[in-house]
Amino acid sequence: MKIIPLAFDSMGTRSMATFVKSDIRILIDPSVSLAPKRYGLPPHEKEIKRLEMHKRRIERYSEISDIVIVTHYHYDHHSLENPQIYEDKVVLVKNPERDINRSQRLRAERFLSTISEVASSIEFADNRNFIFGDTLIRFSPPSPHGSSARLGYVLEVAISDEKRTFVFTSDIQGAPKKDQISFIIENYPDIVFMDGPMTYMLGYAYSEEDLKNSIENITKVFEETEIKRFVIDHHLLRDLKWEDRIGDLRRKIFTAAEYKGKKNTPLEAMRRELFGKSSDA
Ligand SMILES: [Zn+2]
Ligand SMILES: [Zn+2]
Repeated sequence: MKIIPLAFDSMGTRSMATFVKSDIRILIDPSVSLAPKRYGLPPHEKEIKRLEMHKRRIERYSEISDIVIVTHYHYDHHSLENPQIYEDKVVLVKNPERDINRSQRLRAERFLSTISEVASSIEFADNRNFIFGDTLIRFSPPSPHGSSARLGYVLEVAISDEKRTFVFTSDIQGAPKKDQISFIIENYPDIVFMDGPMTYMLGYAYSEEDLKNSIENITKVFEETEIKRFVIDHHLLRDLKWEDRIGDLRRKIFTAAEYKGKKNTPLEAMRRELFGKSSDA
């Protein structure tokens, strides 16, 4: 199995878009976005260029994909901008009517009615397993988008072929809850791509306790599985101090950029610098 991160916060855009190749080709959460405002500043030109580059990369990978997965209905995970991404694909999506908040329900309705004209089929995947050739795709039950369901629910995904298991957590903000981490551990993964703690909102929309619980839960994955590569990215990389926030775990984990052998360029977190303002300003 080959796993390729296509666009992630460590690579400069808000996204977790990932391509997986086993005997079938799977595209997960094919979308990217930018923070409309960060530190009171709009997106920098460099971020806009990176956004366009990531969009094109996702489009290229969609052309060779058989299956597209959408874990929830935030715009950094699905988009209506280019419905061709879903053309002739089997599309496995979060149930748009159950365990969903109002804003995602409305987005899901628009999205699904548009792509139903081009997709070869659409399946609601919550808590279901699918077998395609020698590949098993397992979906978690709906899991809160963080420590509460205020932002709705997401699906975690485990993909296994004969050799490896890959888990993609989607937006769980570091896995502060027991059920979020138990899906990872029970699938006994070789590789995990996880959405990390949302520490850029620490003390506001993300509590010290959420961070503590997340670090404890992530540590359990190292203790209870033989994981070989643990990638943590997305919300965590919006914080310039992300390495300090996770303490000793830093030495054990990779960002998506590092997994690809690249340098981290979390452009949103760097926005003040990009505009030539000091980071204390
Ligand atoms: Zn989300
Ligand atoms: Zn997201």
